[in-house]
Amino acid sequence: MIAILGGGISGLTAAFELKKAGKEFFLLEATPAIGGKVQSSQQQGFTLEHGPNTVLINNPEIKKLIEELGLWKELIFPDEKASSNRFVLKNGKIEAFPSGLKKMLRSKLFCFETLSAVFKEIFNTSKSATEDESLAAFVERRWGKQILDDFITPFVTGIYAGDPYKMSAKYTMNMLKEAEEKYGSIVKGAFKIMKAKKLENEKNGLPKQKIFTFKNGLQQLISALHGQVEENVEQGAVCTKIEYTNKEYTIHYEQNGVEKSATASHIVSALPAFALAELVHNFAFGLSSSLYKINYEPAMTVHLGFDSKNMVFSEKAFGILSRNAEKVPFLGVLFNSQFFPHTAPEGKDLITVICGGARYPEIVAKSDEEVLEEITSCLKVLLGIKGNFELTNIVRWKRGIPQYEVGYRKIEAEIELFLGAHHNFKIASNYYKGISVSDCVKNGSLVAQSLI
Ligand SMILES: Cc1cc2nc3c(=O)[nH]c(=O)nc-3n(C[C@H](O)[C@H](O)[C@H](O)COP(=O)(O)OP(=O)(O)OC[C@H]3O[C@@H](n4cnc5c(N)ncnc54)[C@H](O)[C@@H]3O)c2cc1C
Repeated sequence: MIAILGGGISGLTAAFELKKAGKEFFLLEATPAIGGKVQSSQQQGFTLEHGPNTVLINNPEIKKLIEELGLWKELIFPDEKASSNRFVLKNGKIEAFPSGLKKMLRSKLFCFETLSAVFKEIFNTSKSATEDESLAAFVERRWGKQILDDFITPFVTGIYAGDPYKMSAKYTMNMLKEAEEKYGSIVKGAFKIMKAKKLENEKNGLPKQKIFTFKNGLQQLISALHGQVEENVEQGAVCTKIEYTNKEYTIHYEQNGVEKSATASHIVSALPAFALAELVHNFAFGLSSSLYKINYEPAMTVHLGFDSKNMVFSEKAFGILSRNAEKVPFLGVLFNSQFFPHTAPEGKDLITVICGGARYPEIVAKSDEEVLEEITSCLKVLLGIKGNFELTNIVRWKRGIPQYEVGYRKIEAEIELFLGAHHNFKIASNYYKGISVSDCVKNGSLVAQSLI
């Protein structure tokens, strides 16, 4: 019997793989809901994403999952123009992110300093003084501060909500690090690595247009997965302790106020790091204390729905990311109804504001009234929004996104030491081998296959 702990996308994907293979398993999920961070809702005709907004089809496992669930025809790809139009807030002004040559020449972000830094990097022979370099130190060493502040920081805070001075270069932007290590320069290496990746994607039959959602949001993926494994899932089942004796695990959990336990020969942990740390410290002290060290940044999504004619900002756009130096209360703003028009009723717009992170964690603890006042007054000025918002919604993730910080190398080594000694214990979760939904699908699927 296999026990899967945690019913987010990682745990559900592992469950689906085991189900297909006819394996015996059960899944324990603490909350009454299923899907973990992947949650969508329909409100007043708007489709809101509470966690991730877009998922990438960038590996064979996610493609296969969508196909096997019969969801391929249901995929909705974004409006191409909107999804290629991305912006960065610099000195209070919304500047175009230079994603192609034409845009580069028009963009105020891409100045002479940028061009010169990119060119000089080709001949930069510097080496990191440490194996575990921070992302900021790496980018400053290779390209300088302007590229760090105007390009890399807005981009990585949009994904990790973390602090580039703490984030590990290797674990958060490995492609750039690999380019330096293999080819002596990011510029020289990145093109080669990207070309190789493109060829691999073509070989795997991955579509060119990689971002997707569904009519009812990403929840549709969760519902389809849940539908396949429902009979093996126990919701509202909070794991409280794991015991390990005679190569067998006893999982203690609490459900509806009743203490229960179940035994399993194998465990797939799809829990957050802090939750697993709590459960295993009695028999895996080293793993437990390493997992406690993984920092989770808080994140919050604020949804705003309004009449399209009330917004002056008229670009068809994907979103705006903000730099660290900007005095704004958000990390990024997504124009959902522009890249996925079905997410708002005709004549209306939906935007999702992502806040919190290492830059402004306190906002997550503020009251709804305070949050809305701060966000809407900022956006009214920035985007020229007039009148009232007809929909407002706030979702808080107090321990939102795990950080791969400097020092993660040691944590990873401890995880691998433990897994090496416990072949019947597997980890599939976003703090190990990548945080994106597609990384979680890949890892959930591979972990399950290793048990088949
Ligand atoms: C605001 C936000 C925006 C994001 N945007 C994107 C995006 O656009 N694209 C993208 O690819 N990724 C995005 N991500 C990241 C991605 O959503 C997550 O990394 C991914 O969904 C994590 O999946 P998981 O299954 O590993 O973990 P989780 O979703 O955290 O699932 C863990 C599960 O374990 C359960 N659990 C916890 N403790 C216990 C216990 N003691 N007993 C039983 N169950 C327990 C939890 O209830 C939860 O259901 C975003 C994340 C956030 C927070």
